[in-house]
Amino acid sequence: MKTDQHLPIRPFLPPYLLERIAGSSDARRRDRAYRTLHDDQGLRARAGTAELPEGSSRRGEPVRHVHSAGHARELPGERVRSEGQPASGDPAVDEAYEGLGATYRLYWDVFQRHSLDDRGMALLATVHYGQEYENAFWDGRQMVFGDGDGELFKRFTISLDIIAHELTHGVIQHEAALVYADQAGALNESLADVFGSLVKQYRRGQDVESADWLIGADLFTERVEGRALRSMAAPGTAYDDPLLGRDPQPGHMRDFVDTRDDNGGVHINSGIPNRAFHLAAMALGGNAWEAAGPVWYDTLVDERQASRTACTTWPSAPKRRSTPDGHQCAAAES
Ligand SMILES: [Zn+2]
Repeated sequence: MKTDQHLPIRPFLPPYLLERIAGSSDARRRDRAYRTLHDDQGLRARAGTAELPEGSSRRGEPVRHVHSAGHARELPGERVRSEGQPASGDPAVDEAYEGLGATYRLYWDVFQRHSLDDRGMALLATVHYGQEYENAFWDGRQMVFGDGDGELFKRFTISLDIIAHELTHGVIQHEAALVYADQAGALNESLADVFGSLVKQYRRGQDVESADWLIGADLFTERVEGRALRSMAAPGTAYDDPLLGRDPQPGHMRDFVDTRDDNGGVHINSGIPNRAFHLAAMALGGNAWEAAGPVWYDTLVDERQASRTACTTWPSAPKRRSTPDGHQCAAAES
C-alpha cells in the first residue's frame, strides 16, 4: 500500500474558497473560515490499517461504521451506526451511512472492487466534526464531515458525490502514486470527481444525457449564487458569487493555471481532465459507468501508470529523465 503519512489531508473545499470568506467584512463568517483553514492546515493524513475495525470477509458486502465527533475534533468519536443497524434519525449519520454504501456499490457492482483497498477494508465516517467546520476530508483512513455553517454551506454529507469523491481518494491512495501536487495532484482531484459523479449517476440511474455533471450541487445554501462547487461539463461556470468569487476552473490545457496556491492548483486544473472525461462519456453515450468509466478505472489500476505519473512535474521545473524506480520518462511525459 502506498502511504500518505505526514502529508496534508485532502479537504473537499479548496483553500482559495475559504480564503475569500476569510476576507469578508462579516466577523462571524471570517472567524469560521479562519478556523476551518487553520484546522485543514494542521491536520495530517494518517496511514495504515492497524487501528481500523475488522473489514468485510464477504466480497460484495461492505462493513460500515459511522461515528459522531459531537462537535469536538477527536477521531473517530462515538460510534452511532454500524453495518445493518436501522436509520438513526440523524440526517448527517444516515446520509454518511448511505453514501458509504452507494460508493461501495458502484465499485463492487461495476468494477468488482471489494472496498477501497479491494480487500474489504471497513468504511469509516465521522460526522459533526468541530464547531461549524466548513469542510469534509479523507485523512488516509476515514471520512470526516463538518456540519457547515448553515449560512453559506449546508452539512457536508448532503451531496452524495462529495462522499464518493472523498472515498475515491482512498482508492487512489491504494492504486496510484499520484502525488497531491501540481499536475499529478490535479489528476488525483479529477479522478475523485469522476468516480464521485459516477457513484451519483449509478445511484440515480442517470445516463450521460440526464446526469447533471455537477460536483457538490446540494452544498451551497440559497444565499450563494451558484449551482455547485464544480461543473465537469463546463468548468469555470459552477458559481459566480459576490462573496465566493468566480469558479476558477479551466477546461482546456491552453488555460492551465500556473500557481503555487492550492498545492499547485490541484482543485483548479482538475477542471481540464474533468472536462476530458465528460467529453469522452458524451461521445460514447449510454451510462457513463458502463462506457467511459471502465476506461478511467483500468487506467487508475494499471500498475505501469504509477511510474508514468512520477514523470509529471511542475510545468516550469526541469523535466525528469527517469523516476526513482527506474522508469525512463518519454519526452512527452512532462
Ligand atoms: Zn479531493
